[in-house]
Amino acid sequence: MLVVPDFHGRAGLAQGTEFARWLRARADAGVEMLLHGCTHLDESGHRNRLRRWLARTATAREGEFLGLNAAEARVRLAEGRRRLEDVLGRAVEGFVAPAWLYGPGARAALREAGFLIAEDHWRVWSPADGRTLLRSPVVSWASRTPVRLASSLLWSRAATLLLRPLRHVRVGIHPHDADQGALVREIDRLVGGFLRAGRTPIQLRDLLGRPGPTRGDRPPAARGHRCGARPGCARSTW
Ligand SMILES: [Zn+2]
Repeated sequence: MLVVPDFHGRAGLAQGTEFARWLRARADAGVEMLLHGCTHLDESGHRNRLRRWLARTATAREGEFLGLNAAEARVRLAEGRRRLEDVLGRAVEGFVAPAWLYGPGARAALREAGFLIAEDHWRVWSPADGRTLLRSPVVSWASRTPVRLASSLLWSRAATLLLRPLRHVRVGIHPHDADQGALVREIDRLVGGFLRAGRTPIQLRDLLGRPGPTRGDRPPAARGHRCGARPGCARSTW
C-alpha cells in the first residue's frame, strides 16, 4: 500500500485519527506500507520541455518529485517518512514517487535516504546501489477521462497476454479505480486470471529475501527527522 502523508496539503496524516488507526491495523496485519511522496502535488517550475509535458499534460501536476532539487527532495523524503513511521510505529522501507516520476534531484536524494526499495513504471530497484530487483512493466488503470479509461482497459487486456511469460507481474490499483464499475470488473478479471493460473502474490520486500520490519523496529536515522515542510500532510493511499 502506498501512503501519501499530506495529500495535496489538505489532510495531514496524524496520530490518534481514525485513518491512522486503520493504517496501523493494516500494517500490523502484514500489509506492506510504502511512502508515496509527501503531498503528491507537483509545485515545481519545469524548464525542461519533456518534464513540463509530463507534469502538466501526462499527470495533471501529480508528479511531486519530478522537478525537486536534491535538497528539496531530501526534506520531503524525511518529513514524509517521519510522519508515516510515527503513525505505523515501524520502519518504512520503500518509497514510490507520485506518478512514478523521479527527477535527477529525487534520485540523488533517494540514494542517500536509506530506503531499501523503490519502483517506477518499469522496474523495482535498490535505491542505495541502483541494483534492479525486478524488471516488469506495471499494469495500472486511469479513469480521469473516457479516453484514458478506454486506453487503460486496452492495455490491461493486452498485458494479460504480453506479460504472461514474465516471472513477476506488477499491478497498481488506485483508490478512484473503485468508482468505475468497468475498472473494478477488469481488475477482477486480470488479477483473478493470474491467480487461477497459479500465480502467488508477493510483497516487494520479498525481493530482498528478508522479513519486513516489526512493530517498534525503526532505523535510528529515521527517528530524529524534523523539517520545515508544511504541517498537516493529507491522506491517500495508492
Ligand atoms: Zn499516486
